[in-house]
Amino acid sequence: MRHRALGLKRFRVKPLARARQGRTAKSKRLSEQAFGLVSQCTDEPVSNTVHAKLVIIGSGPAGYTAAIYAARAMLDPILIQGVQPGGQLTITTDVENYPGFADVIQGPWLMEQMQKQAAHVGTRIVTDHVNAVELARRPFRLVCDSGDVYVTDSLVLATGAQARWLDLPSEQKFRGYGVSACATCDGFFYRGKEVLVIGGGNTAVEEALFLTNFASKVTVVHRRDSFRAERILQERLYRNPKISVLWHTVLEDVAGDDNPLKVRAAMLRNIKTGEVTRRPVDGIFIAIGHAPASELVAGQVEMKHGGYIKTAAHSTATSVPGLFAAGDVADDVYRQAVTAAGLGCMAALEAERFLAAHGEAEPRVAAE
Ligand code: NAP
Repeated sequence: MRHRALGLKRFRVKPLARARQGRTAKSKRLSEQAFGLVSQCTDEPVSNTVHAKLVIIGSGPAGYTAAIYAARAMLDPILIQGVQPGGQLTITTDVENYPGFADVIQGPWLMEQMQKQAAHVGTRIVTDHVNAVELARRPFRLVCDSGDVYVTDSLVLATGAQARWLDLPSEQKFRGYGVSACATCDGFFYRGKEVLVIGGGNTAVEEALFLTNFASKVTVVHRRDSFRAERILQERLYRNPKISVLWHTVLEDVAGDDNPLKVRAAMLRNIKTGEVTRRPVDGIFIAIGHAPASELVAGQVEMKHGGYIKTAAHSTATSVPGLFAAGDVADDVYRQAVTAAGLGCMAALEAERFLAAHGEAEPRVAAE
């Protein structure tokens, strides 16, 4: 599965980031209003308050699968899609490890099918971004950028994960101007050019392979001397004449022009010798893994290392009764589309049982 890092498409994320900046003050005010911290302004359009038995936040495989099961359990679920409907698979090309498809399928197509299936069985799908969640008491309250408020008896958090960055000041400076975390989004701009990929997991190897469709030369820079990527991917990488690997090496700095911003070179440090070399390149793709998108509930629920939501053993139940976490936001081990879908199914079944136990849904003998 070509599993692209979330993130960096020059013409997509920048406007989105601006939109987020612009809406921050209003969102904050709306959140405060919804939680009763400030009084309602009379000159604002009146927002809707909607009650639900179950709200699902997130529209990757975990979210849609939870929605399919919850809708079939007559919970009338509402799924709030977020700013990137479909999650990481929408910035993925070939998917060849999702069972049920003998031929290679495309990630965006798979997500479109999941969305249609969720809608078909009765899920109400809302395109909005949740900016605040209040878990202190049930029903939980969610506030969206639109101003709409959801009051829900149970909640499935399926917000997934986003690309990690090295957090070098120069990496941030050149993001969108030669530094990227998404080869599917930005690879096209590097036709006939030389690029680096940083990392040694599946994402890095798949990004490197994909970039050979455009770039003249791809160098994978990895801090150790072996990849953690699947063997089949490694073999494809070693067979590809356009790809070479620099072991024991890290990106120290990105060098480039200021006006206009443009990457010219990577400063690479060999961690064995300490030697720093300047390597002329046109693009640098960061592929060092993903971080769970759990900020929305930070401080309100128990978390594991790295911000993953802590769930009970063999369960999606969190430390907050009525809150279930499914997919990459909670799974720091498998992180696959198919395991996310499985966890989404578990979350819906567990939410149904929770609601039935609290007299908020009809009890059932067994899930079908
Ligand atoms: P990953 O498996 O966590 O690999 C991250 C890579 O980045 C590792 O090689 C790591 O080095 C390196 N790295 C981390 N921090 C670094 C730093 N600060 N500086 C330099 N290098 C650093 O992440 P991923 O490749 O994004 O994969 C995430 C999950 O998605 C995995 O479970 C993977 O199997 C799955 N995935 C599956 C597919 C597929 O099914 N085909 C495709 C993509 C991803 P070390 O090796 O030294 O730790």
